[in-house]
Amino acid sequence: MDNGPATRKLEPGTPPDHSPAGARLQAVQARLAQAAAEAGRSAAEIGLLAVSKTFGAAAVRDLAACGQREFGENYVQEALEKQAALRDLPLVWHFIGPIQSNKTRAIAEHFSWVHSIDRLKIAERLSAQRPAGLPPLQVCIEVNVSGEASKGGVAPAELPALGAAVAALPGLRLRGLMAIPAPTLDSVAQRAAFRQVRELFDDLKTRGHALDTLSMGMSGDLEAAILEGATIVRVGTALFGERTRYA
Ligand SMILES: *Cc1c(COP(=O)(O)O)cnc(C)c1O
Repeated sequence: MDNGPATRKLEPGTPPDHSPAGARLQAVQARLAQAAAEAGRSAAEIGLLAVSKTFGAAAVRDLAACGQREFGENYVQEALEKQAALRDLPLVWHFIGPIQSNKTRAIAEHFSWVHSIDRLKIAERLSAQRPAGLPPLQVCIEVNVSGEASKGGVAPAELPALGAAVAALPGLRLRGLMAIPAPTLDSVAQRAAFRQVRELFDDLKTRGHALDTLSMGMSGDLEAAILEGATIVRVGTALFGERTRYA
């Protein structure tokens, strides 16, 4: 399992592929490259995380055959079943959903990354339960910049304290921030929310944390996120199609 910088693990699709999965992957990579060019950034520094929740192992396998290696999941039981069915592939799994205390052991044992840390208690459990034979769990703190009380993520004011506490845990390696701003079609509002996340990220770095990961942007707003500095975009619908059950 590769736990180096996410940006180095994300290679473009291997041979040009004309399957539906290959065509969708190429279309998303083209959007990513276009946004990177507009931002004056190298596309190579932006990782594409394929969010496979609600889609089965066969859909993941199809995308993996086109060169995609990094996959994101929101539900532990669903993810473990897919991982078992895909054990023959060199995939890197990211947990991106809400985390219940009784699921931390499975997450610590079966994922390389967790993007959705928003409480110290959960971080402490993940650190304590990370198996000694594995590299530290690569983690992002989820920040709530939309102020929606119902949503996950730590309030910006609590970020410095949580960041310091998480960075001190031996089983974890703090890599950066993740955010899911309130959905909007207004690209100015999209950019304003992502800019706020990037400013919080920059602030955390000035406090002495060596961070390199800004996980933000999804199918509907990945361009705005890249323009504001995203280093990982998490894309589900644009790669797999519409989800038929709520997730
Ligand atoms: C479902 C999900 C995504 C992907 O969303 P799409 O709009 O389908 O691209 C990204 N991040 C998180 C945390 C998700 O739950």
